[in-house]
Amino acid sequence: MYTKQNISRDKASLVNHLQNAGVRVTRQRVQLATILFDGKPKHVTAEQVRGLLKKGHATVSLATIYNTLHQFTTVGLLREIFVDSVTYFDTNNVSHYHFFDEDTRELTDIHADKISLNSLARLPKGRKLSQVDLMLRVRCN
Ligand SMILES: [Zn+2]
Repeated sequence: MYTKQNISRDKASLVNHLQNAGVRVTRQRVQLATILFDGKPKHVTAEQVRGLLKKGHATVSLATIYNTLHQFTTVGLLREIFVDSVTYFDTNNVSHYHFFDEDTRELTDIHADKISLNSLARLPKGRKLSQVDLMLRVRCN
């Protein structure tokens, strides 16, 4: 599991990281992983990833970007967050919550221990809790 977000990864450790997650390593996947897992937590759309790749003079089609982001999500390297019909990909896969700024459309992490969930609704019979997704929407006064 990717837990040390603030440690930058060199290419060899990125390749190891992808292989350990069960991802077949290709040049384009490594290019995407280099941008996504640079040690800083990110919440990015596929279009934003394409913009970042272009800045680095890499050309990867949007379809390949989508496929790769979804594959990274499937193996647990990323987490998908849907806000107002937009899909963001979160590089922080440790349990946490979010602020969503309605003015800037940006997500910011809230550490899980900053919010206390003391009283949850009774779960449907025969079901167990798998995850809590909590988003606090904020905007300018
Ligand atoms: Zn997050």
